[in-house]
Amino acid sequence: MNNKIVYTPGPTNVRENVRQARFIKTTNPDIDVDFVEFYKETCDALANLIKTENDVYLLCGEGILGLEAACASLIEKGDRVLVIDNGIFGNGFKDFVSMYGGEVVLFSQDHRNSINTDELEKFLEYDNDFKFATIVHCDTPTGVLNDLSTICPLLNKHNILTVVDSVAAMFGEKLLVDEWKIDIILGGSQKALSAQPGLTIVSLSEEAKKSIKNRKTNIIGFYCNLSIWDNYYENKHFPYTMPISDILSLRKAVDNIIEDELENVITRHEKISKATRRALSEYGLKLFLESGFSNTVTAIEIPKEIGALNLVNYILNTYNVVIGTSLGEYKNSLLRLGHMGENARLESIIYILNILEKSLTNLGFEGNGCLVNLFNKYYE
Ligand SMILES: *Cc1c(COP(=O)(O)O)cnc(C)c1O
Repeated sequence: MNNKIVYTPGPTNVRENVRQARFIKTTNPDIDVDFVEFYKETCDALANLIKTENDVYLLCGEGILGLEAACASLIEKGDRVLVIDNGIFGNGFKDFVSMYGGEVVLFSQDHRNSINTDELEKFLEYDNDFKFATIVHCDTPTGVLNDLSTICPLLNKHNILTVVDSVAAMFGEKLLVDEWKIDIILGGSQKALSAQPGLTIVSLSEEAKKSIKNRKTNIIGFYCNLSIWDNYYENKHFPYTMPISDILSLRKAVDNIIEDELENVITRHEKISKATRRALSEYGLKLFLESGFSNTVTAIEIPKEIGALNLVNYILNTYNVVIGTSLGEYKNSLLRLGHMGENARLESIIYILNILEKSLTNLGFEGNGCLVNLFNKYYE
């Protein structure tokens, strides 16, 4: 486990000061009101970064908790839910919806492009009776980015609440929660924020709260019930003991972003991802996507003779570097290069491109030129 460098699209490398924050001596987060203030300030700082006036909470559990909690809290048996699907996570939402008794209606498009808002608009003209819709901001297994700025206002116009999985995009992509009319946004600690895994970030609009409040049946379960957070601050009382060290560490990661300035952080992601894609293409590798390239992850097709699984094993054994293939049907065909958070830095990308070239060459691939030089040529 020791001293490996990770290039996965989450978990990402964690900065030294974020790791150190875990060692801070802690108090009793249930009783000490200073901690309630600290928690609230952290949530407010997050709200500020994702541009929302809505309440933000940190839930004790990895990103998936947020996806499930949104479904558990909103769905009553028989509710129709629109699952917008152009990737593995997008499609996967249907499982959470049906698990809680919702009726799934899929709006599916191909995996190589962003959701086409015009097509969605046409679809909604004849069917729009949905309690909410789910959409993934960046669908990590393929890296496709969806345009929330047009999709979410469109759904809102049809009175459909929006549940957005931005786990792999938040802090690496532009995100304006209020302007784009997003009711529930979900983020994770271990992606572009570059803290350790373990916390979910969630914001809830007044409309989403109202919908939860107006349910006729009780929410199943406790951990996934988002209404347990109502008035925690006024009552100075958390629904369960908060993982205080996780939150101290996440707060440092938030402070790092504030210090670097979010605009600069996003620009850094953008510049690195653009030059990476151009370099890989010119080198002779094929990118999986046709459109909708994200700032945070690049999916690269690996020639069959080499195999993506073989390549990542080679990289791990030779360089002690952890990089992932994709999921499901893409498990052995795609390599996923994560360049999010602390990995969206020059020293980090140059290191992995160098390793990637050496490994591909050793496994018999003949590229055009030198990957790092190509990257430098396009990095501006
Ligand atoms: C990482 C991620 C999650 C959280 O799930 P994992 O258990 O970390 O895979 C949810 N949605 C997206 C789009 C993610 O990238």
